[in-house]
Amino acid sequence: MKPLGPIPPGFTAIDGELAIAGRKASELVVEAGTPLFVYDAGLITARVAALRAALPERLGLHYAVKANPFAPLLRHMAGLVDGFDIASGGELAMVVAAGLDPARISFAGPGKRDDELEAAIMRGVTLNLESAREAERALAVGERLGRAPRLAIRVNPDFDLKGSGMKMGGGAKPFGVDAALVPALARRLIAAGCEWRGLHIYAGSQTLDAAAIAETQAATIALAARLAEDSGAALPACNLGGGFGIPYFPGDRPLDLAAVGRALEAQFAALPAVLGETAFCIELGRYLVGEAGVYLTRIVDRKDSHGEVFLVTDGGLHHQLAASGNFGTVVRRNYPSAIATRFGAPVEEEASVVGCLCTPLDRLADKAGFPRADEGDLVAVFCAGAYGASASPAQFLGHGPAAERLVNANS
Ligand SMILES: *Cc1c(COP(=O)(O)O)cnc(C)c1O
Repeated sequence: MKPLGPIPPGFTAIDGELAIAGRKASELVVEAGTPLFVYDAGLITARVAALRAALPERLGLHYAVKANPFAPLLRHMAGLVDGFDIASGGELAMVVAAGLDPARISFAGPGKRDDELEAAIMRGVTLNLESAREAERALAVGERLGRAPRLAIRVNPDFDLKGSGMKMGGGAKPFGVDAALVPALARRLIAAGCEWRGLHIYAGSQTLDAAAIAETQAATIALAARLAEDSGAALPACNLGGGFGIPYFPGDRPLDLAAVGRALEAQFAALPAVLGETAFCIELGRYLVGEAGVYLTRIVDRKDSHGEVFLVTDGGLHHQLAASGNFGTVVRRNYPSAIATRFGAPVEEEASVVGCLCTPLDRLADKAGFPRADEGDLVAVFCAGAYGASASPAQFLGHGPAAERLVNANS
């Protein structure tokens, strides 16, 4: 039997069933059908509160929209975080539709088209520039529109985040301007009359190692100070990146948030003068929303093949690519999952949970221990709040997207 990842805290059983925000799984799917993503708004609120308590007051908290752009979730987030980081014109349209204040939005990401630059500049969104040529196009678009663009430079740092799932800095990268070229570009932007918004330095994602995050943040602050000195201008703002990971797999331990907070507090207490007035923030995606989401899918067939049990569901990798092991993982390991309609019941058998796609890649849980489940039972895949619905090929094989719901225990 292969182990399952750890079920995140905050989920309870009611009448032997998984409850999300106090609502039984079977009730949730009566309203919305299956497959269904359910996001617990209270868990997101609690996560933000825990971050605020652990991290320095001076540090702003941004939400990386690409983790989950579901409109009700964005609106919930608007009351919790200080800013939003987007990565496309499509995400810009989503955050505008959700009623978010454009002045709190920054736009990073390679390959921004002129129409995307224009939409961002018209709305007063900060552009995190990914290259010198993109910077020239942003200035030209601002000139044409008669608007001074709000510009920051995304830096390709000379280091990456140790232990991170996806490395986004260090060496040759499509992301950000190589650190050595940043001071000259900053001077150029300021001289051209832009509204100078400072630096964005993102070194990686998904680490559970507090010491690695602290080390990266210290290196990031030192780099920001050096670049500010070399460009001869104060730094109005500095986005220190993120990279806070969540436990997905067997043996993963939660990030020690208090340790991250203490280290950053010490950094802030000893800031060089050039950063004295700088507004710092971090940008988090999965850490804010990942563990608050559950993917519910119904078993439509139970079959035995060569002595193995397969629970065949109406969901699959077209909604939960990451849980199938096909989104940025080298070795396939089991996400946390459970039989939602028999939550907390003892393990009775070894079974694999597979999806309804006609490909061997479509496996949500491999040879794991579950209570006996049959047609009609619901399977819950946890850690589904980030990079689920929005990062899976929903059109593949024609099944279409899953439903999504934000639920709040207090409403
Ligand atoms: C994807 C991304 C994030 C969010 O990453 P998480 O691992 O979900 O926290 C933040 N910043 C940038 C620049 C990104 O590309």
